[in-house]
Amino acid sequence: MLQDKDRIFTNLYGLHSPDLKAAKMRGAWDGTKFLLEKGRDWIIDEMKKSGLRGRGGAGFPTGMKWSFMPKQSDGRPSYLVVNADESEPGTCKDREIMRHDPHLLIEGCLIASFAMNANAAYIYIRGEYITEKHALQRAIDEAYEAKLIGKDNIHGYPLDLYLHHGAGAYICGEETALLESLEGKKGMPRLKPPFPANMGLYGCPTTVNNVESIAVAGEILRRGASWFSSIGRPNNVGTKLFCVSGHVNKPCNVEEAMGITFRELIDTHCGGIRGGWDNLLAVIPGGSSVPCVPADQIMDAYMDFDTLRGLRSGLGTAAVIVMDKSTDIVRAITRISYFYKHESCGQCTPCREGTGWMWRVLTRMAEGRAQKREIDMLLEVSTQIEGHTICALGDAAAWPVQGLIRHFRHEIEKRIDDYAANPHSEPVMMAAE
Ligand code: SF4
Repeated sequence: MLQDKDRIFTNLYGLHSPDLKAAKMRGAWDGTKFLLEKGRDWIIDEMKKSGLRGRGGAGFPTGMKWSFMPKQSDGRPSYLVVNADESEPGTCKDREIMRHDPHLLIEGCLIASFAMNANAAYIYIRGEYITEKHALQRAIDEAYEAKLIGKDNIHGYPLDLYLHHGAGAYICGEETALLESLEGKKGMPRLKPPFPANMGLYGCPTTVNNVESIAVAGEILRRGASWFSSIGRPNNVGTKLFCVSGHVNKPCNVEEAMGITFRELIDTHCGGIRGGWDNLLAVIPGGSSVPCVPADQIMDAYMDFDTLRGLRSGLGTAAVIVMDKSTDIVRAITRISYFYKHESCGQCTPCREGTGWMWRVLTRMAEGRAQKREIDMLLEVSTQIEGHTICALGDAAAWPVQGLIRHFRHEIEKRIDDYAANPHSEPVMMAAE
């Protein structure tokens, strides 16, 4: 369990002021100039040594991502873009950083931009985050006024920081769609390669990082890579914000050690499972796009990238959605399916057609109006979507369906049997088109 002294986000719950004076008292902007003076290579090396893996979902090592940026400019500027779109259902961690500890993020932007030779950074914030936009803009203005950032700042490295407000589309959380949107175009993912580190924003080298990944950078460098890497388990280190929702007694956001067990996370911070541990049905451990894990497999599992991948799920954004036995799991996954159908940008056929098809079949299955042979057909179609699309939304739509069939096929079959025995039963109402 994480000790208080190891917490990075000491104002996660907004108990103190988010303003600059209070942020400085909590440790933000402490010795930032000294960190920059150590040089680019030292910063990137420390970030690599810290073992920080991207907190936006994919878990790619942050230091390595920074090292992909060109060391020498070919005449084009470099950019840092911070992904504050946070649209994955169940995820609500970055908004707390932006509301209550925005200076950690701004300081991280300066450090990361310096390490990647960028003099301009953009924070792309999701359309629905109005309060967060105002809080973050206030903090950016404060930082400019105190000459912490800007053209002629006390750190001796010019950085302009822009906050861009999106229009509220899930797909703009995909890094290349985000760049398109930032450029003023429709938020549609680009084909990769070229990768953003070669050709990103306005055709220039760009790194896109999640809010949490950037906000922890200052504290990692201040306390040292070895401090960060000593928390957690091998290859899965550091502290992590978990967003726990659903059927627990006290849903919450909490910063914990990576690799805490699910049981400890829930018992320590969430007051246990509603109705007790015997009442747990399944958990979606990393935001709605990862497959659910049944109770017996998740109870004592480590909440980290590798363990959850071993359970054929994922840590994703660490948005832990807990479902007790009152949940209609088939309907729950059907609703998730509807979300991905709705958010598909429509560029690729497997995603555009497949997400709608999966949702329609699942809707029938939730009511029992299906044939058992369709379960395998649904699974087969989901594998035809997965990995065959421009961006990961296709995978995100396929995985929850695969998780449902893998672990709860019996539930679907029971629905079909019940309906066959009583075909005139009332249909279950699902999300409308
Ligand atoms: Fe658009 Fe879906 Fe293709 Fe992604 S996978 S580019 S969301 S159609």
